[in-house]
Amino acid sequence: MIYDGSAITVKLLDDGIAQLDFNLQGESVNKFNRVTLEELKQATEVLQAAIQESADVKGVVVTSSKDVFIVGADITEFTEMFALPEEELVEGTVATNAIFSAFEDLNVPTAVAINGIALGGGFEMCLAADYRVMSAKAKVGLPEVKLGIFPGFGGTVRMSRLVGCDNAIEWIAGGAENRADAALKVGAVDAVVAPEKLFEATVDLVKRAISGELDYKAKRQEKLDPIKLPMMEQMMAFNSAIGFVAGKAGPNYPAPVTAIKTIQKHCGKKRDDAIRIEAKGFAKMAKTSVAQNLVGLFLNDQALKKTAKDFERKAGKVEQAAVLGAGIMGGGIAYQSALKGTPIIMKDINQAGIDLGLNEAKKLLSKRVSRKKMDADKMGDVLNAIKPTLSYGDFETVDVVVEAVVENVKVKHAVLAEVEKHVKPGTVLTSNTSTISITKLAEALERPEDFCGMHFFNPVHMMPLVEVIRGEKSSEETIATTVKYAKQMGKTPVVVNDCPGFLVNRVLFPYFGGFAGLLRDGADFQKVDKVMEKFGWPMGPAYLMDVVGIDTGVHAEGVMAEGFPERMGRDFKSAVDVMFENERYGQKNNIGFYKYETDKKGKPKKVVDQSTYDLIAPVCAESKDFEADDIIARMMIPMCLEVVRCLEDNIVETPADADMGLIFGVGFPPFRGGAIRYIEEMGLQNFVDLCDKYADLGPLYAPTENLRKMAAEGKTFY
Ligand code: NAD
Repeated sequence: MIYDGSAITVKLLDDGIAQLDFNLQGESVNKFNRVTLEELKQATEVLQAAIQESADVKGVVVTSSKDVFIVGADITEFTEMFALPEEELVEGTVATNAIFSAFEDLNVPTAVAINGIALGGGFEMCLAADYRVMSAKAKVGLPEVKLGIFPGFGGTVRMSRLVGCDNAIEWIAGGAENRADAALKVGAVDAVVAPEKLFEATVDLVKRAISGELDYKAKRQEKLDPIKLPMMEQMMAFNSAIGFVAGKAGPNYPAPVTAIKTIQKHCGKKRDDAIRIEAKGFAKMAKTSVAQNLVGLFLNDQALKKTAKDFERKAGKVEQAAVLGAGIMGGGIAYQSALKGTPIIMKDINQAGIDLGLNEAKKLLSKRVSRKKMDADKMGDVLNAIKPTLSYGDFETVDVVVEAVVENVKVKHAVLAEVEKHVKPGTVLTSNTSTISITKLAEALERPEDFCGMHFFNPVHMMPLVEVIRGEKSSEETIATTVKYAKQMGKTPVVVNDCPGFLVNRVLFPYFGGFAGLLRDGADFQKVDKVMEKFGWPMGPAYLMDVVGIDTGVHAEGVMAEGFPERMGRDFKSAVDVMFENERYGQKNNIGFYKYETDKKGKPKKVVDQSTYDLIAPVCAESKDFEADDIIARMMIPMCLEVVRCLEDNIVETPADADMGLIFGVGFPPFRGGAIRYIEEMGLQNFVDLCDKYADLGPLYAPTENLRKMAAEGKTFY
């Protein structure tokens, strides 16, 4: 052993080959944290010395002793790092790059054996070597744009020189993980081999370079030199890429376009100058609030996963599930459960319901097959895992039941009491109710401790969130098992306490309350949609109402108004009420605020309908042009304040849970990090001052006493 660290070891093998192995102690994966970077520096110095002093080291093979190669930089260190002044961040990045460049400059051939995932900094390490041999099972990529940044360990420099600007742009601006065949095709790796041949093949490659059979110096030189591309061609390639990527990423995500501009700036430079240019661009992106929010989001997601894991340890088994009701939600739940490997019984009271549910599942599966995401055999297996029935025949084998029948307390009470008699004690019963109190639903049960809420979002296969709702009597094991089932289904569970609307609908309806007030005061619903979409929402509130269903919205709004009359009760007739009265239910009957026509692909396309304006005119003030900031404040304040209240009322435990619930449940703009991050970015005092500006709009705009106190004392949520 010539170097023995806590993340890296270097030992000499036969034939003058040194093996540099990544194996971060105390962690399940390798990552570039401070310790690993420092050890890479030291290990490279040791190798350098050994090469200079003797002829013992003739080549270097880089390996990992973990299942992954290196997952990337340590994102838990980013918050602190990104808080540095920009100039310091540039210098720090340049200094870190010197470590990779020193490794690249070793006077012997080097090769990496990519045994598993090598992403971000992990793949940049691979790029610093002369050769890359990849296991057929591994994945590589540069996903930094997903965090609002781009590669900063020389990735934009080496990748563009290695695979050409067009491929580099696609990898870096797209941020995808790539399979071995795709990596080989563009030349990002030199060979792909079966996992068991990886080490041998990598050593063999280095030996061929040592013997002179392969010219590693010429290969390396390409990464050190400017890119050879005629000026005119360069201009055209970059300009069209910028146009395309800007359109795709949108104005709220600047990193992909800045990455392309950075490559454009450094493509005519030698490595070290190019790296400095990359470092400057990287630091600029790291200082944006987008990057900081996306990093926060990643950390929140990690925290959520950890909480889920803690629950899973206390959970019972979930090998067989059942769903009651084969409607929109029941069908979706059955599909998702079967797809992810938990067989499910789907019970309805009429055959027509079952046929509908199964057809929906078939449609989704056929789509997967036609997109080559699944083969026909697997489709058959998934369909066989859904067992349609009109009776409770096999219910004694079931571990978890999801009730998804119509939203009616009486019906739900009856159905829950009935199913309880057909399952064994300990079977977890859950309800997918959107609004009815879980504690209230539990009143129908003999074993309320085995019951909790499991609230999915529509469409089930697309929406990542599941709210797991703790009723007054739900046991912790019931919650744990429900969390486990949600995870098994590939969803992100957030555990919340019971209240009308739980977390997501409780905060969504004040937002719709803001919308109702704006229309009453003369705002144009189309303008409100446009402003909120520009703010980052996937759809504006009028469009969202149409998609949710105006009837569903009005019903839920009534429940929320009953639960929180002071804030959510309304003393005026709203435009949404008018839509409902006129049976304009939205997308489901092709007319709501907008009219829906079917496009060429068979998807609903919204078009403007003048009659909407005529219908709502009697309940709206004379048309008035609201400033975008005014619209944003009037829409966002009620929602953000309700999130604060949910934290104060202990409906949701942490700010991270609340923010993730909003992002995954209602599509809160991810680059803003969630409602609490949005308040914090503005500053608590500024937010309170803004609320006060709108005080005459009533209780939806009134900050809580605690929020005022926190603001005055300079406290924060995170
Ligand atoms: P739906 O009307 O599409 O489906 C309800 C199904 O339940 C029907 O097929 C009906 O035949 C069946 N059913 C009725 N009584 C039954 C019984 N006794 N036993 C078995 N099946 C019975 O409704 P949906 O939109 O799927 O909603 C179901 C539940 O999910 C509701 O509680 C709703 O609030 C909730 N939810 C809906 C959405 C949504 O966007 N649609 C989102 C989240 C939660």
